[in-house]
Amino acid sequence: MALTQPVSPAAGTPNGEGSRVAAIAAGEAGRVTPMMEQYQEIKSANPDCLLFYRMGDFYELFFTDAETASRALGIVLTKRGKHLGADIPMCGVPVERADEYLHRLIALGHRVAVCEQLEDPAEARKRGAKSVVRRDVIRLVTPGTLTEDTLLDARRNNYLLAVARPRLSAASEDSRFALAWIDISTGEFRVAECERALLSAEIARLEPGEIIVSDALFSEADLAGYWRSLPAVTPLARDVFDGATAERRLTSFFAVATSEAFGALTRLELTAAAACITYVERTQIGNRPPLSRPLRESAGASMAIDQATRGNLELMRTLAGDRRGSLLDAIDRTVTAPGSRLLAQRLSAPLTEPGRIARRLDAVACFVGDMPARAETRSRLDAAPDLGRALSRLAVGRGGPHDLAAIRDGVLAAADLARALASRKEMPPEIAEAIQACRKPDGMLAAELSAALAAELPAFKRDGGFVRDGYDKTLDETRALRDESRRVIAALQARYAEDTGIRVLKIKHNNVLGYFVEVTAQHGERLMAAPLNATFIHRQTLAGQVRFTTTELGELEAKIASAADRALGLELETFERLTASVIAQSASIKDCAEALACLDVASALAHLASERNYARPQVNDSHDFIVEGGRHPVVEQALSREGTPFVANNCDLSPPQETDAGRIWLITGPNMAGKSTFLRQNALIAILAQMGSFVPAKHAQIGVVDRLFSRVGAADDLARGRSTFMVEMVETAAILNQAGERALVILDEIGRGTATFDGLSIAWATVEHLHDVNKCRALFATHFHELTALAGRLARLHNATVRVKEWQGEVVFLHEVVPGAADRSYGIQVAKLAGLPASVIERAKVVLARLEQEDRTAPKGFEDLPLFAAPARPPQEMPQPAEDLLIAAIAALNPDDLSPREAMEALYRLKEQAAKKG
Ligand code: ADP
Ligand code: MG
Repeated sequence: MALTQPVSPAAGTPNGEGSRVAAIAAGEAGRVTPMMEQYQEIKSANPDCLLFYRMGDFYELFFTDAETASRALGIVLTKRGKHLGADIPMCGVPVERADEYLHRLIALGHRVAVCEQLEDPAEARKRGAKSVVRRDVIRLVTPGTLTEDTLLDARRNNYLLAVARPRLSAASEDSRFALAWIDISTGEFRVAECERALLSAEIARLEPGEIIVSDALFSEADLAGYWRSLPAVTPLARDVFDGATAERRLTSFFAVATSEAFGALTRLELTAAAACITYVERTQIGNRPPLSRPLRESAGASMAIDQATRGNLELMRTLAGDRRGSLLDAIDRTVTAPGSRLLAQRLSAPLTEPGRIARRLDAVACFVGDMPARAETRSRLDAAPDLGRALSRLAVGRGGPHDLAAIRDGVLAAADLARALASRKEMPPEIAEAIQACRKPDGMLAAELSAALAAELPAFKRDGGFVRDGYDKTLDETRALRDESRRVIAALQARYAEDTGIRVLKIKHNNVLGYFVEVTAQHGERLMAAPLNATFIHRQTLAGQVRFTTTELGELEAKIASAADRALGLELETFERLTASVIAQSASIKDCAEALACLDVASALAHLASERNYARPQVNDSHDFIVEGGRHPVVEQALSREGTPFVANNCDLSPPQETDAGRIWLITGPNMAGKSTFLRQNALIAILAQMGSFVPAKHAQIGVVDRLFSRVGAADDLARGRSTFMVEMVETAAILNQAGERALVILDEIGRGTATFDGLSIAWATVEHLHDVNKCRALFATHFHELTALAGRLARLHNATVRVKEWQGEVVFLHEVVPGAADRSYGIQVAKLAGLPASVIERAKVVLARLEQEDRTAPKGFEDLPLFAAPARPPQEMPQPAEDLLIAAIAALNPDDLSPREAMEALYRLKEQAAKKG
């Protein structure tokens, strides 16, 4: 049965393949080989996947699968016989390198069904010459269900996310969604409900590798465009999202009696969680990853940050898409991959509850204050492998000897670390609990693994040789027999050389012939003649050599092969037994893995704090926002690499006495002064504080921010094919509609993407709305100096500017944020710094001088030039904004330049504007 519908040609096999295969299978069956018949049967059960069909040492692909894969992977497309008169396109990838090819196919959005041989070809032959080796799909490889290190980024979680919503009835306008997400490679499993308005922010936070939704939800008009804008969304048949069977599917996976075992999950959450489970079961086919029970995240537990804000603030990656230069990169001092993943998780989802934040900060503070404990922790963790992912691979049957070793080393490192830390005095709860979890795995397990595993381990268990000599007596004997036989072969070669008098006679081995005797062509004649031909049986003649076998050699070979087989069989038995004892402890190993990650994060953040002189923030339930001596964590590090100091700045958005609503800072100043940097650093400080990190400031006191918005004017979003101004306005609208009193809003040069007066009016109205309606804390950087006049009227608006000095006609940026408004733009000075030709600079100065002489309210023919600021008018002179704008609009008219028709239009426009205000 097909699991999914093809999403797009890129995501599955192009449409039509299924029917073509079916036609071949059905029609003229007599001319279809049994193997091809088997292929077609398996393929038609997995029409949406590329089928990796195992044949010996290769996975082969046929028909359009082959064409797709050869294009995608750049591998040779060949033909394999004919079916129904047509050539069958074929290509193959060697089993040993399959991971690499899978990785590329998955990254391109394909899904792959891996079909293995389920029996030895010899078994099949016993059933008759024509019988086919039994094969079946053992796993579907999809972007959200990967476990291999080679397919995963060690420092990032890879989530499978299920999105469910209640069946829409005409009556109910239910806008709730339930999300459930699993990282199959670590066993993490979470559920949460969320409002429609927060859906995309939640998805942006999780950055799932794959999203599953029901067919119905996939094609819902409201969301269809959104789903298609995401990288891997898989629509599934309704049964996967069936609410009626959800509880049963979940309880049976976890083998519990009722869903109460999971705490209080809503029916919708159960549905999403069950969809995840069903998808995991269908893709893993019989293998059971060690999933934790679904843990509920309460709505609002983390700061909501939408996709655009994450992008603007470059939290996880820069706008160019690199990790380098992002906030995550700047603060990541972890020494283990799981630690790095946990740090990224915390950064994506800053907390909103002061108590939980303080708990994390206590742990960091403990390591800040105890330098030896920090050093000890970090050096011990350095040796700790990725326990969680090793465990998952073992559990789904894809583990190797290295994974067993990883469990051993991880468990031992955890126990050592716990011992080392336990001797220290009082530890804050987060660390104390982590230490306890580090002790959970049974010590016997590590001891057993140490005893069993050899010092040098092969990559795959099938290579054998991973069980230590002396661990298993039978294995030792079998190995001795195998090695002894090899010595006997060496002796045999010497004897044959002696008997025949052919000194160059060699016994060699290859995969086709097995062991054989090899002599040069010249000696070959003698061996083929009497009497030696009684002993030497001719096998092969090559250009320069002739090859023989003997009865004795054949017998020896069988003995060696069976000893080697038996040795490998014994090793594999040991492997399975050890794996089983690891899995039996998966709960405590997982807890231990989490604890190690937690200790890594706490000590790494402490390391960062002391290295870069960060301070512990105070986070509380107020609406305060006080940052003293704040710095931009990324810019500061970049500047310090060049030896340039970063100028620290204060920011205070706290509500004035007796009010609850925070302040808005309006920041003016020339280009390059540091406005954007200042805005972002305060947003980043809020994020760092709430994720439980120290912050780049002397002192910070922050009332919990529940939502963070950051917008940059005229952001380029050509990728989505919208005008930049449209994007800016859509995003601004979202903020004005959504920001509540606990929000923090960062607006950088909003209103830039349109004509000056339009832009100014929009910026003006936006500030008013933020102040009067949203009542949130906000930072607004603008080149519209006119806006500073608003401070006279809006009680909680504060003007700030970034200081510059003019020195011999050059502008010097001091990067210092001070109260007040910028006196002018220094645009020409900045242009000069940028290297504009001197003639242009001179001309611009002349134009500017003229502009400044003109009556400011009636510039002639320069309406669209940027507004160079006149000194702000005193507040008492400020008319109401509506009138002000109307006057401004009239002032902007230049009757001499208007055609009669334009004049009429202008008149209508003014009339309309006036009517609105009335
Ligand atoms: P604006 O938004 O005002 O045009 P930016 O914030 O983009 O200016 O800053 C321009 C450059 O000035 C930054 O790239 C940075 O190198 C430098 N800069 C900004 N703020 C500071 C600061 N506080 N201390 C030192 N250098 C700064
Ligand atoms: Mg800027």
